[in-house]
Amino acid sequence: MATDKREIILSGIRPTGRLHYGNYFGAIRAFLDLQEQGHRCYYFIADYHALTTITERMDLYRQTIDMLRTYVACGLDPAKSVIYRQSDLPCTAELTLLLGMITNIGHLERGTTYKDKMAKLTSESEGLEGNPLSYGLLGYPVLMAADILIVKADKVPVGDDQRQHVEMAIEMARKFNHRFGEVLKVPASVPRNALRLPGLDGSAKMGKSDNNTLDLLDDPKTVLAKIKGVQTTTDPLPLSSDSDDPDAIIPQMPPSLGALYRMLHLLAPEDVYQDFVGKYRRGEKFYGTLKTTLAEHVSKFNAPIIEGFNAPGNTEATVCEFLRANAEKVTETALDTVESCKAAMGLGRSLFRA
Ligand code: ATP
Ligand code: MG
Repeated sequence: MATDKREIILSGIRPTGRLHYGNYFGAIRAFLDLQEQGHRCYYFIADYHALTTITERMDLYRQTIDMLRTYVACGLDPAKSVIYRQSDLPCTAELTLLLGMITNIGHLERGTTYKDKMAKLTSESEGLEGNPLSYGLLGYPVLMAADILIVKADKVPVGDDQRQHVEMAIEMARKFNHRFGEVLKVPASVPRNALRLPGLDGSAKMGKSDNNTLDLLDDPKTVLAKIKGVQTTTDPLPLSSDSDDPDAIIPQMPPSLGALYRMLHLLAPEDVYQDFVGKYRRGEKFYGTLKTTLAEHVSKFNAPIIEGFNAPGNTEATVCEFLRANAEKVTETALDTVESCKAAMGLGRSLFRA
């Protein structure tokens, strides 16, 4: 049988809320390109990962199904990409355990996501009494490394916020190979130009758990209300550069206004974006039209996704059907990785799976 020489792509999204513009332009857009380029793509819903930050019972199953329906509505095709649920691949947990044995705690404590959560909790509560920081949260990068390494991924399309986690996975794979022999495929780093879309509140990152998102399933009324609600009371700050490059000028704007410009650049034709940059430079009064123009582009973008989400062929039943088939497709590769790691570490191969 000829071996499959295609590049292997792996990425996941947590079912912690509805898909937003950061998820789309940081991840899904690349998922679609890579799918159409014919690579071997594994796209999963990270339901185990959701449990690392959820402290109360939530209907994660329902959110998982809705996220999968949104995947399909965006154009991800279960016949071309292997789309599965993380918890349907329980051997990921076994690989997490094995990788945990070679992972330094200090290294995990220096993780930016962990440190951010820690800082947030310490500032919000009085000390860390009833400490909600769990072993699972600290170990998030180990679980993510297992997700990546278990399918032998070459590339991991993620937003800039996940760059450090991918670097940690690379380090874990190298360390494992150094210690136990060349078993794990070492994936590539996240490119330097990966996107980090700011939140509507002007914070550095739009996030499902941060209540600052513009969502792909937002209807026109919601879109307009959310965009109108963005704070634009600050006067424009002078731009120190004549450059047209959004990466040069947007960071010089007040943060929430910068978030609007970033989205306009992603969605509107270049001349519309440039027109508003000109208005900004000339200090014209334009915030109202900026908001209505952006809202129109967002609603236009959302319309086919909302339609696809509600399409009669995109139901819980159809999603469950491909989940079953696709979990089977990924299991063989995943078990092969886990068995190779166990053998390399000296445990020997499983006696009953052989
Ligand atoms: P949560 O707040 O629950 O962590 P999230 O919005 O950060 O949710 P994730 O499920 O953690 O979403 O991430 C899914 C993918 O979307 C990842 O590839 C991540 O890098 C990307 N992503 C998330 N937010 C942004 C953003 N603001 N800009 C660019 N990419 C993003
Ligand atoms: Mg996140």
